[in-house]
Amino acid sequence: MRIDIITIFPDYFAPLELSLIGKARAAGILDVHLHDLRSWTYDRHNTVDDTPYGGGPGMVMKPEPWGEALDAVVAAGAAALGRPDAVPTLVLPAPSGVPFTQARAGDLAAEPWLLFACGRYEGIDSRVAEEAAERMPVMELSIGDYVLAGGESATLVMVETVSRLLPGVLGNTDSVTQDSFAPGEMENLLEGPVYTKPSVWRGREVPPVLLSGNHGAVDRWRRDQALRKTARNRPELLERIPADRLDRHDQEV
Ligand code: SAM
Repeated sequence: MRIDIITIFPDYFAPLELSLIGKARAAGILDVHLHDLRSWTYDRHNTVDDTPYGGGPGMVMKPEPWGEALDAVVAAGAAALGRPDAVPTLVLPAPSGVPFTQARAGDLAAEPWLLFACGRYEGIDSRVAEEAAERMPVMELSIGDYVLAGGESATLVMVETVSRLLPGVLGNTDSVTQDSFAPGEMENLLEGPVYTKPSVWRGREVPPVLLSGNHGAVDRWRRDQALRKTARNRPELLERIPADRLDRHDQEV
């Protein structure tokens, strides 16, 4: 997968050298390109923002550098891919966007090319997204109901979530299907508690069923724990589980 990121803070993305993503890049699974928006400014101060029309607090990112940046990054990416007509899916992180979920991460993981445009200040002049939508798919995505100072940390969250779904990135592919929110059995469930050795630590024992070697009993225990944890922390998720996905034992938990 190719990922382009346009930002005024390219250094923000140093963590993409580390851990799973760093390894995926070294293995050629992920091809990440960072671009400094200020490269497409021509004044002495490399200005990327201006006062909002209609008044109000804060500043808005100017459309001209964004328009030129998108043109250049799309053209360079298409040339590198050897497909002059190729376009990325443009992701605009925004608190006003549709929620970024595990299911949406799965959809994005199936795309060959993503382009993230990191807003700052009060956001990017809205004409940029409108104009881009005439030539590429555009998604405004929110990572949660709170307001960050910029789209960089939201982009890191999304890149990490999408990357671990790419084939070859995780050593054990089962862990993806057993995670909280994973499509299928776990779609609207949170994963329950997990344990490792030693079996007794500071007087606390690991639940005996996990030491029993009885896989059926372990699966049942894990599902019960997932249902309980979801009921405790996110009860609204349980409402979304279709009735035919719940067995008789589930109903009793
Ligand atoms: N005025 C905007 C609003 O109220 O919707 C908030 C702008 S915010 C201070 C600056 C930038 O941070 C946004 O353009 C976006 O890129 C990013 N951002 C903030 N919160 C976010 C969230 N919850 N999800 C995704 N991106 C977010």
